[in-house]
Amino acid sequence: MKYVSEFRDPVAAKSLLAAIARITDALGASAEKPVHIMEICGGHTHAIFRYGLDKLTPPGIEFIHGPGCPVCVLPRARVDEAIQLAERPEVIFTTFGDAMRVLGTGKSLMQARAAGADVRMVYSPLDALELAWRNPAREVIFFGLGFETTTPSTAITVQTAAAEGRTNFSLFCNHITVPEPIKALLDDPHMVLDGFVGPGHVSMVIGTHPYDFVARDYAKPIVVAGFEPLDLLQSVLMVLTQIHEGRAEVENQYARVVPEHGNSVSLAAIADVFERRPSFEWRGLGEIDLSGLRIRAKYRAFDAEEKFGIGYGAGPRAVAEPEGCACGQVMTGRMKPLQCPQFGRGCTPDMPLGALMVSSEGACAAYWQYGGARLSAAAP
Ligand code: SF4
Repeated sequence: MKYVSEFRDPVAAKSLLAAIARITDALGASAEKPVHIMEICGGHTHAIFRYGLDKLTPPGIEFIHGPGCPVCVLPRARVDEAIQLAERPEVIFTTFGDAMRVLGTGKSLMQARAAGADVRMVYSPLDALELAWRNPAREVIFFGLGFETTTPSTAITVQTAAAEGRTNFSLFCNHITVPEPIKALLDDPHMVLDGFVGPGHVSMVIGTHPYDFVARDYAKPIVVAGFEPLDLLQSVLMVLTQIHEGRAEVENQYARVVPEHGNSVSLAAIADVFERRPSFEWRGLGEIDLSGLRIRAKYRAFDAEEKFGIGYGAGPRAVAEPEGCACGQVMTGRMKPLQCPQFGRGCTPDMPLGALMVSSEGACAAYWQYGGARLSAAAP
């Protein structure tokens, strides 16, 4: 297939849905005893709701929306630290737009900006580096966050800053990795997961082998998937087929984009600039070993945590979620967004209480955008 329209072909979708229905029946799955498939990536969560795949697939399949939205899993302590940095008078704090509205303990970066902090939205870390060049008397900090998809561009920006000898640019690093939280979820005795739809964009960078442990050590199928409706339906069918045949393998449905061994240029840039933190806190999931990245010693001059004395080296960190917020339960599949008492009441996209309502990749924002507002209004 060459064109996007082909990946949305209704005839092919009907045929895949019929195959999914047959195999779901053969597995004896039902609404009461469903097969639990976690889509890890927030982009997949968004696509599932956008195309109504949760409604089109049989009730014997339950999608569990995983922790693959980097803004959603950013803990409140890190948002507070970002605001602390942004409020320094010498600082221009730069960030991607969706991080602006995430609430810390008391406020968001957007609210800090309204109160006078110099917070600017950028589209790339290189935009932040250019700001540093244009403002030599100011300290420019880039709020680096995201999974392996965005880490290479941040790494290359730090390399560029070093090559230019830039002294007024630094990175507040919150980059995180995907395989470690999958392991943490699989180790959680309360989680019921039968298989995974694996992330497409992250895998474009890291390849498929970092998921080998899912099949080898936990005997669960995982299928790396694209983002069009037929990609997702085919991936769900591949997961179900593995379960039906008693197999547990890593399969690559998105081979047109994802190379088996990843992108060597990106991986080399990441390895040059970053190393693993011993652990990193995830909103709703707690501390997960080796799941966060920090800047290597040779690039220490560009580490905002070192430069301004905040972050993991600076004392206790755990900050509780806002009262009534059920983001942790939603992110681990223990609750659906509509079951959160705050959904549509204390928490809407205009006034988000929890992080899952902020980013378009958050499960609650996806529910809201594709029918949740109506469902919420109909709820007693
Ligand atoms: S509705 Fe709001 S508070 Fe409730 S889980 Fe979703 S984002 Fe969190």
